[in-house]
Amino acid sequence: MPASSSFLVCRDGVHVFLLRKTCLFFNLFCLQFFGDDSSVVLADPAFYSYDLLPSFYSSVFRLWGLLGGHGAFPNLSFFKSGSVTSVDCLSVKLAYSCLCPLAVPHCVTKFCPLFGDLYWSSTWFQVHVMPFDRHVVDFSWLLAHGVVLNADHLRSSFRMSSVPPDCFCGASLETAGHLFFECPLAQSVLAWVQSLLTLTVPSAPSLCLRHVLFGFDIAESTVIPLVFSYLLNLAKH
Ligand SMILES: [Zn+2]
Repeated sequence: MPASSSFLVCRDGVHVFLLRKTCLFFNLFCLQFFGDDSSVVLADPAFYSYDLLPSFYSSVFRLWGLLGGHGAFPNLSFFKSGSVTSVDCLSVKLAYSCLCPLAVPHCVTKFCPLFGDLYWSSTWFQVHVMPFDRHVVDFSWLLAHGVVLNADHLRSSFRMSSVPPDCFCGASLETAGHLFFECPLAQSVLAWVQSLLTLTVPSAPSLCLRHVLFGFDIAESTVIPLVFSYLLNLAKH
């Protein structure tokens, strides 16, 4: 389990929340809005007003209270498939195996209005196409979930109004779409990838935002060599 991960387990032993790489933010917001450390806040959720927190943490904290949450890692256990397991044994993969049957992943509903039905199985396969390069895999995973900490995300989801909204290129708002597709620097890198792609597969599509965020769809993947999925991931990283 990565050192930056944190698991929250509810009293009924069934519901597991995972805050990965953002638990430092959670602690920061608890200190900022409540004046208490996150472990103190989680131990007594009814005492605190979750509406004060940014939307993501507000939702997690509200559910934490509704489900009877009363503590935090590491002095807890969780229940799966009829057996109780120490939370020390939890991994990210195991936490997802608990969560996925219970709910549609947030990214699926988040991107549907913008891109329609996507090809998530193909996306996850391409994210892990070269698993030896962990930083590239992790970053592509974050981007496909729409949780990369760009200026727009920090300002809108984390209420960090002090973060300058503009991109280093001068564009007025640094969104993920701008940063990884529209920005002149991104365009120059993607043009290089496109030139190699067209040279290898003349019928290949022009790279668009969908490719950058989610990789090639299933039909495209049948004619485009896997190395281009990795090259695209590497370009984003
Ligand atoms: Zn830019």
